[in-house]
Amino acid sequence: MAQRYVYGFGPWGADGDASMKNALGGKGANLAEMCRLGLPVPAGFTINTDCCTAYFQEGKKFPQSLRDEVAEALRKTEAAMGMKYGDAENPLLVSCRSGARKSMPGMMETVLNVGLCPATIPGLVKKSASERFVYDAYRRLIMMYSDVVMEKAEDIEPAEGKGVRLQLEHLMATLKKAKGYQSDTDMTAEDLKKLCNQFKAKVKQVLGRPFPDDPQEQLWGAIGAVFKSWQGKRAVSYRRIEGIPEEWGTACNVQSMVFGNLGDTSATGVAFTRNPATGENKFYGEWLVNAQGEDVVAGIRTPNPLNEATKNEQNRHLDSLESKMPELYKQLDGIRTKLETHYKDMQDIEFTIQEGKLYMLQCRNGKRTGTAALNMAMDMLGEGLIDEVTAVTRVEPAQLDELLHPIIDPAAEKTVEPILSGLPAGPGGACGKIVLTSADAVEAAARGQHVILVREETNPEDVEGMRAAAGILTARGGMTSHAALVARGWGKCCIVGAGGLAIDLKNQTVSAGGTALAAGDLITLNGSKGRVYQGALAMMDATENPRFQEFMKLVDRQRKLGVRTNADTPDDARVARAFGAEGIGLFRTEHMFYGKGADEPLFILRKMIMVLGKKPKPAKTKQAREAAEKKVLAERKAVVDELFPFVKHDIKATLEAMEGLPVTIRLLDPPLHEFVPQDKGAQLQLAKALNMRLADVKKRGEELHETNPMMGHRGVRLGVTYPEVTEMQVRAIFESAAELIQAGKDARPEIMVPVTCDVKELDVTRVIVDRVHEEVKTQTGVDVKYLYGTMIEIPRAALLADRMAKSAQFFSFGTNDLTQMSFGFSRDDIGGFLPDYLKGGLLEADPFQTIDQTGVGQLIRMSVERGRKTRGDLKIGICGEQGGDPASVEFCFQAGLNYVSCSPYRVPIARLAAAHATIKARR
Ligand code: PEP
Ligand code: MG
Repeated sequence: MAQRYVYGFGPWGADGDASMKNALGGKGANLAEMCRLGLPVPAGFTINTDCCTAYFQEGKKFPQSLRDEVAEALRKTEAAMGMKYGDAENPLLVSCRSGARKSMPGMMETVLNVGLCPATIPGLVKKSASERFVYDAYRRLIMMYSDVVMEKAEDIEPAEGKGVRLQLEHLMATLKKAKGYQSDTDMTAEDLKKLCNQFKAKVKQVLGRPFPDDPQEQLWGAIGAVFKSWQGKRAVSYRRIEGIPEEWGTACNVQSMVFGNLGDTSATGVAFTRNPATGENKFYGEWLVNAQGEDVVAGIRTPNPLNEATKNEQNRHLDSLESKMPELYKQLDGIRTKLETHYKDMQDIEFTIQEGKLYMLQCRNGKRTGTAALNMAMDMLGEGLIDEVTAVTRVEPAQLDELLHPIIDPAAEKTVEPILSGLPAGPGGACGKIVLTSADAVEAAARGQHVILVREETNPEDVEGMRAAAGILTARGGMTSHAALVARGWGKCCIVGAGGLAIDLKNQTVSAGGTALAAGDLITLNGSKGRVYQGALAMMDATENPRFQEFMKLVDRQRKLGVRTNADTPDDARVARAFGAEGIGLFRTEHMFYGKGADEPLFILRKMIMVLGKKPKPAKTKQAREAAEKKVLAERKAVVDELFPFVKHDIKATLEAMEGLPVTIRLLDPPLHEFVPQDKGAQLQLAKALNMRLADVKKRGEELHETNPMMGHRGVRLGVTYPEVTEMQVRAIFESAAELIQAGKDARPEIMVPVTCDVKELDVTRVIVDRVHEEVKTQTGVDVKYLYGTMIEIPRAALLADRMAKSAQFFSFGTNDLTQMSFGFSRDDIGGFLPDYLKGGLLEADPFQTIDQTGVGQLIRMSVERGRKTRGDLKIGICGEQGGDPASVEFCFQAGLNYVSCSPYRVPIARLAAAHATIKARR
């Protein structure tokens, strides 16, 4: 049997259903499902995603069998609607809409009113009894079709401001100005008729081809353009950001047109079965009377509120659907309940009312903020709509980020007045410099600046800039505009429809509710309330949501993988513990030599480095030589002892903060040359303290200089050369633990040796560890329980994991270095070429952010297997940066690790990702 590409739907039912998203796309599958539920859906058919793939494989040609299938489906649609496509008397018009497996709001194309042409116009005029309506539909078709099908789909890239759509809009604006009209609705039938003729002439002039007036040509042109929009610029960018595979393709939905612009008994709207910004269980939406759907989502007019209960400051004065069309609102509200009960999730719906009759055009799981996702999951669990496991899966790990991220400090916010307000489209707070174009946002963000993208209206072309910006502010648009949807999906702070905002792009200035600002000025947004403030306000974290704690309890009930944190100070340890960390997976000892309060220990460390470099004075006799050696050793010990109290202090405080939980303390890791003072002042100070010549201090620095320090004298190698440094650290660990235990506290140290490549390195270090352990035991009477293990961060260590496990009781994958050394990419300098690798598709993701499962992942799997062969109870974790990345967490779970360790603020994300991984594996 030939492959089937076309699936019909209508009042009779549907060929497909909601489970067929991969083939029919989200939109097509849900249209079919709604028909099955008996909801009023205009009849039509879906051309599946396989057809899109085949279309590209064939060099942008439709498969042979498609024409017959479409003809047949069109006949069935005509029968259901009682109209005929291309018919002069009773013409059926259709829309052609894209629809991928995963929603990509506004990123692909749609063409409406397809089938309208001189042959069908008179019939439609007669039926609608409105010449004005028909010519308005025709001018919309010409605008959309010439832009989408004749220009974009043909890969024509017009010069700035020369696109066909803009030129047609210019013609329309000229006409309105000449006639003194304020709004589109002021244009008469005669005006529109003339305008359509002007449009057609312009299209021919700009694109060199006439606008097609043959219904079949229109239909196939539109279907092809929908397919081609899968490869359009916006779609490609969005797919890259969202990680949507290129091979999925889009479906094309051909559906009978219904009109929301047939006068005052017609309307169109978009709604959410619950509030997508807060999660509140209230029907929430926007609508416009006498309008087409594009008018709502394009954000050109500020839409009316759906009901009385959800009116806000911006739309309080506008009529709700509930008050204007109460019967229809009731019907819609009934559909809301039916859809939620059926899908058991919040739905985002589009509807049209044509002359008093309600039609459903779309439903899908609605995008929502992290706050809303969490609140809805907990509410629906409480309502008995979903179970615990489903509730856990309803929040994406990355969405938690937004709950843990800044809001404006309420105390600071109280002291200032907003300069402007708009609709609260994306949550939280953001502060940054004003930029007025997407390109500027991308460029500034690349320089590490925080920017707020300020735009006239919401435009999906700005996707890259929206992504790069810390926040988004627009003058027009509603809560359901594309920018709002996209921002919400990303959990980005966003305010739309700020009516008091005027932008002068040419002069790079902005008037915000009368306050004059310019590009580069700082503003602060409260995206949860829709308020804009001048200057930078203080921010704080938004963890106070009590439901967050409740939700995390559910999460922990599902997960098997442990989650620890990378913390280098007692403060970090406390924060991480509050976020649910079950121990420290990496305590980087050297961090006590950086930042606040580091001056004194750093100075002593530098002294130590100088002293470690000292050689015994040459001597003639054996006795003199021995005396000289002894002197050097005594000097070394003295300086190491000087450092000891600082090291012990930090270790003890951290063990105490993590009482009852394991703390993996890593021995000194970085190459010593990182600590050698470079500036003359510090060098002089050191020379003075050590009674050395400045030249000798400089010389020592030069001796330590390495060409490849990341592959140099660091990690365990330091301990091999200077065992007293290892000894000092180990003593600090055991003494701290012993003292805490004596004080009745539960200290659980784990000693981790970094940068190892051979088991012998572990063995020689172990000799020191055992000896010091015994000494501390004798000294304190406490037999400290501890684990001894290693990082696996050099490929050779991974290859020899079976041997490493003979000495190590645990492994922790240092995937920063493991990635660096497996790829041969310097982790510090990857910025120079990584963007090219990502853009060119040479790499799917930055391997320093998400584990390269194909390469580095193999080393990990192999080490786990070999290590456990030697030592069945080998404890294994990961402490590279990837430990907080959800995809990497899932990989670690599959690879059989015991825990992941990540920065404190990523702990809840890792916990949720670990729960998702367990649930997924169970299914
Ligand atoms: C690693 O290499 O992954 C690691 C955790 O250690 P560091 O980043 O300190 O080199
Ligand atoms: Mg490392």
